[in-house]
Amino acid sequence: MQTDMVALVKEKAGPGLALIKKPVPIPGPGEVLIKIRKTAICGTDVHIYNWNPWSQRNIRPPLTIGHEYVGEIAALGPGVPGFGIGERVSGEGHIVCGHCRNCRAGNAQWCKDTKGVGVNRDGAFAEYLCIPACNVVPVSEAFPEEIVAFFDAYGNATHAALMYDVAGEDVLITGAGPIGVMAAAICRKNGARNVIVTDLNDYRLKMARAMGATATVSVSRDSLDGAMARRHMVEGFDVGLEMSGSHLALDQMLSKMRNGGKIALLGILGEQARVDLNEVIFKSLTMTGIYGRRMYETWYKMGAMLEAGLDLSPLITHRLHFTDFEKGFAAMQGGLCGKVILDWSVQ
Ligand code: NAD
Ligand code: ZN
Repeated sequence: MQTDMVALVKEKAGPGLALIKKPVPIPGPGEVLIKIRKTAICGTDVHIYNWNPWSQRNIRPPLTIGHEYVGEIAALGPGVPGFGIGERVSGEGHIVCGHCRNCRAGNAQWCKDTKGVGVNRDGAFAEYLCIPACNVVPVSEAFPEEIVAFFDAYGNATHAALMYDVAGEDVLITGAGPIGVMAAAICRKNGARNVIVTDLNDYRLKMARAMGATATVSVSRDSLDGAMARRHMVEGFDVGLEMSGSHLALDQMLSKMRNGGKIALLGILGEQARVDLNEVIFKSLTMTGIYGRRMYETWYKMGAMLEAGLDLSPLITHRLHFTDFEKGFAAMQGGLCGKVILDWSVQ
């Protein structure tokens, strides 16, 4: 087996990323080596590329980035049963301690000591990735490889969209980024009546409609009230999914919920965000913070929904070789994209 590999690395503090040669990791006890086939770029990777204030606080270079991937098992460390060499896998990007109260209660998504693949330890934008066996998720060969490449983000969308019962409900999704758009498709698949998606970006609103949103609203131009009235919605939204990270979007959502409505908060708010909690009190709203995915019930639902016909393919807008990573990051920066897939095959 080869001993060196190419990896996309944040080499030092500051903007940019570099493709460099590194040794192929050797799986230790309980670990699995994955040969990466395809990856997808997440907004977090763009933050690390840009070296924004969050990255400056959290990223310790040198670091191989990336956490959305599909690959195959290349080698097993000592004491890892149950996987076959060549088996197709993706993986849970949150590596948990396994012994805190939440981990032991089966709520590992709330672990007090989570480490992120491609954030706190070397990630998947490389020819090989080494992770603990318990994080490896076997994936059916029936699912398109480029969709499995962004299962991590699909998991965020699934966890948020299924937090509350959406069958027969009217759902507001603020933010038509890849996660908001996937959430729209998931809500429709699970029987929501109206799924209205807001954004400022027309390209992304079009994507939301292609993925099943019943209506979209460009909040810089149109009123949400008009869209609601056209659908005979008089009491407000039953379920809200905040997926923009904008406090303006959250304010708007709070003002359009019906009394007793439920909100899942996924978008990460800026430090200056202010929220009118009196809206929450007087409307008796329920709000839940969403972080990551449930381990591993969300993964189960993700596979099951694809088997039941959920189609995420309209979301893929860019397919590039990893050596063209700069083009992929430029597309993500410009916002005229859905998912950007990088192919890691090496001739
Ligand atoms: P993204 O940045 O691609 O999409 C966000 C969208 O929100 C953009 O299209 C933007 O134009 C839109 N937007 C901005 N202001 C708006 C407003 N006032 N009203 C409506 N839309 C507005 O992000 P993504 O990759 O789809 O992720 C969505 C959010 O979830 C981000 O904030 C991301 O950081 C966060 N996230 C959270 C978790 C978690 O575990 N909690 C995991 C992944 C991503
Ligand atoms: Zn834990």
